[in-house]
Amino acid sequence: SIALQETERTVLFQSWMIEVIKSRETMERDLRTAIADGHFEVYYQPKVSARDWTVTGVEALVRFNHPERGLVGPGDFIEIAEMTGLIYDIGLIVLEEAICQCAEWHRAGQSTEVSINVSIEQFRNTEFSNLVISILNEHECPADLVTIEITETIAHTNIVSVSDHIKALRAVGVRIAIDDFGTGYSNLAQLTGLKFDILKVDRSFVSGIDSEGKAREVSRAIIQLGKNLGCRVVVEGTETPGQVAAAAQLGCDEIQGFFFSKPMKRSDFDTWKQLRASNPVRKALDSIVAG
Ligand code: C2E
Ligand code: MG
Ligand code: MG
Ligand code: MG
Repeated sequence: SIALQETERTVLFQSWMIEVIKSRETMERDLRTAIADGHFEVYYQPKVSARDWTVTGVEALVRFNHPERGLVGPGDFIEIAEMTGLIYDIGLIVLEEAICQCAEWHRAGQSTEVSINVSIEQFRNTEFSNLVISILNEHECPADLVTIEITETIAHTNIVSVSDHIKALRAVGVRIAIDDFGTGYSNLAQLTGLKFDILKVDRSFVSGIDSEGKAREVSRAIIQLGKNLGCRVVVEGTETPGQVAAAAQLGCDEIQGFFFSKPMKRSDFDTWKQLRASNPVRKALDSIVAG
């Protein structure tokens, strides 16, 4: 009967829910252990100048080095970290590590900019901007080498402290980037009330960028919008030489994506950068862009 089917469905649903809750609880427990034992690693993905293909900086991307599951990406744990408040500790680990790394590169005479992602939850902490500034001071890291990436969704949230944190960070020279631009709650009018320095065009725009058509025109308009607002524009998620060339031709300032490199361990990044100095890729790109 229908009633019986309903009961079966309810039972199925309940057992599915229990599984979801259990796996969340397991992840929460694993994250707590990882915070205590230092099982997080920061990977770095290079960003390249769209004018001369030199490396301008990196984006810091966190990974959880899980004792049984191996390397776990942020897509599998950031949400749970946000729900449980563990994002404060994880965020602090990433800020410490990335800023320390930036200062080290600076001391070695390479001014590699480092861009760090933060969650909305971190902005709820009234001490957030002071925390970033004290980490910069502690490592004697020039503030203008550091960018804080926030998503468009954070920018539109009614947390009073968001604009206060942005003001405080920009006052010392830290740059603010709007990440995944074009995918969030796109109330363009609200952009006028916000101060930011860099606009990162979401990678969903990249797939059609290298052929004539609507996708390319939308990308062109977004890049132009960023430039008109006085921002540096970064196109992320480029995987092919055609996409890289198109992004450069549409006037963006920097390009990031698997075409250049996946996010790497710090030691692999150093090797990659050295190899790249004599890499024919740059010449090949020049000729593609020149047509
Ligand atoms: P995001 O900030 O937009 O970072 C870019 C993501 O796109 C990264 O995924 C990167 O590996 C991936 N990506 C870069 N180039 C390409 C490409 O050419 N093709 C494709 N298919 N993907 C590409 P990842 O590392 O898994 O990070 C996912 C998201 O997790 C990030 O998106 C960011 O929102 C969040 N996240 C990463 N690290 C942190 C962190 O330390 N704190 C916080 N709060 N969030 C973080
Ligand atoms: Mg980002
Ligand atoms: Mg992004
Ligand atoms: Mg994202």
